[in-house]
Amino acid sequence: MGLMDQAPAENRTKLRLCVLASGSSGNCSVLTIGEGLTTRVCLIDAGLSPRRTRTLLADQGYRFDQVDHILVTHFDRDHFHLGWQSAKLDSIRIHAHVDHAFAAKRAGLTGTNLRLFDEPFDLWEKLTVSFARLAHDSLGVTAFRIETTDASLGYATDLGRATDDLTRALHGVGTLAIESNYCPRLQMDSNRPAFLKKRIMGGSGHLSNQESADAVKRIDPGAHTVLLHLSRQCNLPEIAVDTHANHTSQTVVSSQFEPTDWIDIAPRRADALPEPEPIQPSLFATKART
Ligand SMILES: [Zn+2]
Repeated sequence: MGLMDQAPAENRTKLRLCVLASGSSGNCSVLTIGEGLTTRVCLIDAGLSPRRTRTLLADQGYRFDQVDHILVTHFDRDHFHLGWQSAKLDSIRIHAHVDHAFAAKRAGLTGTNLRLFDEPFDLWEKLTVSFARLAHDSLGVTAFRIETTDASLGYATDLGRATDDLTRALHGVGTLAIESNYCPRLQMDSNRPAFLKKRIMGGSGHLSNQESADAVKRIDPGAHTVLLHLSRQCNLPEIAVDTHANHTSQTVVSSQFEPTDWIDIAPRRADALPEPEPIQPSLFATKART
């Protein structure tokens, strides 16, 4: 008998999110579906050691064996901890985009637990995962839209740029978790080497507070915006929140050291936007003649 046969009907599609940790020392969020004994758990990124993850999950009242899935945005060490290589994964399925196949293998994942995707898929019954692919270092990063009939979460971190693809994919989610990595002034004033500043700010690194706020405006989430991956050296929670102050959704700031409160994922405000129609050369030619 599967989970969905057991969960009370009214709780079947409720989602809740807690960001256990977010930042360059390790990222891991917990997404739960259902309530009570039959609650199941999906992790978004696994950038903390399995032991640490287990402890933090227990602090929140969840057991490791409730984890069914891990969605991996990308395989940088702060998003996928090498300790998971030797962890007893049992029935946990780890989902990564096909472009990350080699990185997943290098991270020690084998075929039995790894699920590579290149199109939207279901995590549980009535819960769909769609995505956008974005630039970040060489292999790119995946941003997720995780949705049931009652709840809709966008999750985007380590973005080079907040592109139109991102806006389309995450448009109108109920709750949006998005990185707000750095304040440009603190970044420039920091004693970081020039190459690192360039990597971070160069369009395949991270979003500044302002770029994040602009993306939130375009995506236009419903109830809350959760700010992820704040730089400890080049950002301050007050500055990040201030920069997002114009948007009407409530802002929650995640931290490297302390889990956020639990957030009830709000229902979608609007659907994802369709891909733009490709320009048809024949029409273009007709137009050009007139
Ligand atoms: Zn990162």
